[in-house]
Amino acid sequence: MSGGEKEHKPATRMVEAGRKREWTSMPGKPGGVVNPPVWRASTHLYDNSTDHAEGRPNEDGHFYYGRRGGPTQWALADALTEMEPGAQGTQLFPSGVAAIACTLQALLRPGDELLVTDNAYEPTRNLAMGMLKRQGVDIRPFDPLDLDGFPSLFGDTTRVVMMECPGSLTMEVCDVPALARIAREKGAVSVLDNTWASPLGFAGLAHGCDVTVMSLTKHVGGHSDLMMGSATATNPAFGRIRRQSQFLGQVVSPDDASLALRGLRSMALRLERETASALAIAEWLSARSEVSAVLCPMLPGAPGHAMWQRDFTGGCGLFSFVLADADNSARARFIDALDLFGIGYSWGGFESLITPFDPAPIHQLRAWPPGIDTGSGLGVRLSIGLEDPADLIADLEHAFAAMGAA
Ligand SMILES: *Cc1c(COP(=O)(O)O)cnc(C)c1O
Repeated sequence: MSGGEKEHKPATRMVEAGRKREWTSMPGKPGGVVNPPVWRASTHLYDNSTDHAEGRPNEDGHFYYGRRGGPTQWALADALTEMEPGAQGTQLFPSGVAAIACTLQALLRPGDELLVTDNAYEPTRNLAMGMLKRQGVDIRPFDPLDLDGFPSLFGDTTRVVMMECPGSLTMEVCDVPALARIAREKGAVSVLDNTWASPLGFAGLAHGCDVTVMSLTKHVGGHSDLMMGSATATNPAFGRIRRQSQFLGQVVSPDDASLALRGLRSMALRLERETASALAIAEWLSARSEVSAVLCPMLPGAPGHAMWQRDFTGGCGLFSFVLADADNSARARFIDALDLFGIGYSWGGFESLITPFDPAPIHQLRAWPPGIDTGSGLGVRLSIGLEDPADLIADLEHAFAAMGAA
C-alpha cells in the first residue's frame, strides 16, 4: 500500500500509487480488496444537520457531491499525482482535449498571450486559434527547436507556454527543461502535453514544467475503450485549474476511472514492449528504399534522438515515417494492403494502428524537422501495439510490395 514510498522507481510506483486502504476496505473490518470499487454516486450523504451545516472541505478525499467525484476517481487522480514528483494534485477530465481546454482557459485572460508550439496536436492548435482567440487571447506559434530565438518571443502580456514533446506527427524533441526555465524566468506558466511519454518516460514537473496534461485515452486506458484526460500541476496553477474545472462542471464516470486505473497497473510493461517493437520496426523501416526518413526519437541517428536520450527514461510505440517516392494513391495502396494495422485515430492501445498525415497545412513555421529527406512529403504514423513485431514487419513488407505493384 502507498504512503511515503516516493523513492520507489516509477514502475513500482505505477503499481502502488493511489491505493489507499480507506478506499479498498470496510470501516472497522479487517481485510480488504486490491482495487477500489466503482462508487457510482450523485448524492453523497451527510450524517446529520450539524455535519451538513458545517460542510465538508471541497477537496478530493471528502464526500461532498457527485460532481466532485468519489473514491474511484480520487484513487486515479491520486495515482497520477504520485507519478509526478512535485505535483500538488491532478484534475480529471472527460477527454484529453477537455483537459487542455480547461487548463488553458484557467490560466489565460483576455489580453494575455499564449505561445503555442508549432507542432502541437491539431485540436490544441484549433482550440487556441478558435475559442481562445475569440475570448481575446493573443496566440503566437513558436518553433520548438529554435531555443535561441525563444526568449525574444515573450512580451509584457505573455502568460502561458504550451509545449508538446515529441511533437504530434512530426516527432521533434525539443529542450523542454530549457524552454520551461525560460518561461519561468519570463514569468509565464509552462504547460506540457505529456501524452506520448507519460510520467514513466518524462517527469514533466521535475523538469521544470508547471502543468502536465495527458490524454488518458491513449496509454493509461491502453485498450481503446475509454476517453479521459488529466491535468497534473504544481501550485498555484493547480488551484486555478481545479476551480475552472468546477465552474465548467467537468466530471468523469467512476466506471471509466476504474478502467483507467486497471490500465495504469499494466502500463509500464505495455510501454516497454511497445518501445522495443517500435524500435525494431523503425530500424527495419530506415533500411527500406520506400522510406526517406524515420521520425522515431528512440532510434539512434533519427532526429531528436540525442535530446530524447538526455531527458527521457522511456519511449512508446508511436512514431512516424515519410514515404520516399509516392503519391496519395500509392500511400493509400500501402495502407489498404495492411492486415494487422487498423486505420484510425488515437493510439496507445494494445492493437497497432496507422494513419496518413501531411504536416504542411497544419504547421505554420516549419512543416518537417530540419535536416531530413522529406521525400514525397507524405507521412504515415504508426502506433505499435502488442503483436509480435516480426508479424508487423511482415505485414509492412507485404504492403510495400502492394504499393509498388501499381
Ligand atoms: C489524443 C491526444 C490528445 C487528445 O486526447 P483525447 O482524449 O482524444 O481528447 C491530446 N494530445 C495528444 C498528444 C494526443 O495524441
